[in-house]
Amino acid sequence: MEQNIVEQIRDFSDDRLVNGCLYCGGLEESRDHVPSRVFLDSPFPDQLPVVGSCVSCNNDFSQDEAYVACLIESVLAGSTNPDDIRRERIGDLLRRTPKLRAKLEAAKTIVADNVQFEVESKRIRNVVLKLARGHAAFELSQVCRDEPSSFRCLPLALMTEVEINDFDASDVVCYLGEIGSRGMQRMLVAQFNFASPDETDSTLGAVINDWIDVQENRYRYLAIDDGNDITVKIVIAEYLACEVVWTK
Ligand SMILES: [Zn+2]
Repeated sequence: MEQNIVEQIRDFSDDRLVNGCLYCGGLEESRDHVPSRVFLDSPFPDQLPVVGSCVSCNNDFSQDEAYVACLIESVLAGSTNPDDIRRERIGDLLRRTPKLRAKLEAAKTIVADNVQFEVESKRIRNVVLKLARGHAAFELSQVCRDEPSSFRCLPLALMTEVEINDFDASDVVCYLGEIGSRGMQRMLVAQFNFASPDETDSTLGAVINDWIDVQENRYRYLAIDDGNDITVKIVIAEYLACEVVWTK
């Protein structure tokens, strides 16, 4: 039941909620795609979500985003050789940035025939927090510049089936977020049918906040505001599962 396209839904909530650079509060000098295009392949979805950012934040993030995108593809290929990388765009990026490739190559070890990479977790965290902040702003009209109350980021392959089911579930909404935010406008109203023991069925309406599939097998996210917590879940390349929570 995933939504396939990102529509540029007009945000009717108060513009003052998201003002200036989303990340540092400085002057808004540019528009930043969330997710950054380095996580997607062409043809790109028509209208990617954008948030305001300053030039300095924008530049800082793009280095780390290139690192994370190249790291993920190198891990999946078990190699940093551009010819082995499945995503052409990332193969090209590694060709163009020999320094980054050398860095990844130096982080590579082979243990019992398994290729492993030592990761720079600070850079991964920096990127995931940035993406989560972007989704919270774009979907929920919430500015989350503080440190999150919880941060989780691990390969889907390391999660148990129960954990994956729990992580992947869409959100049945008990609390409706910022009136007019994009997230609110996107929600799907679903009906659940319950068969009762006396064989009369009853129907319960519920509002479903579902995952947004920005590009299949490349990037999806779900942003939830339950009144107490802002939770953003992200899956990059169907490999890296991330969950960031800010308690209000
Ligand atoms: Zn900034």
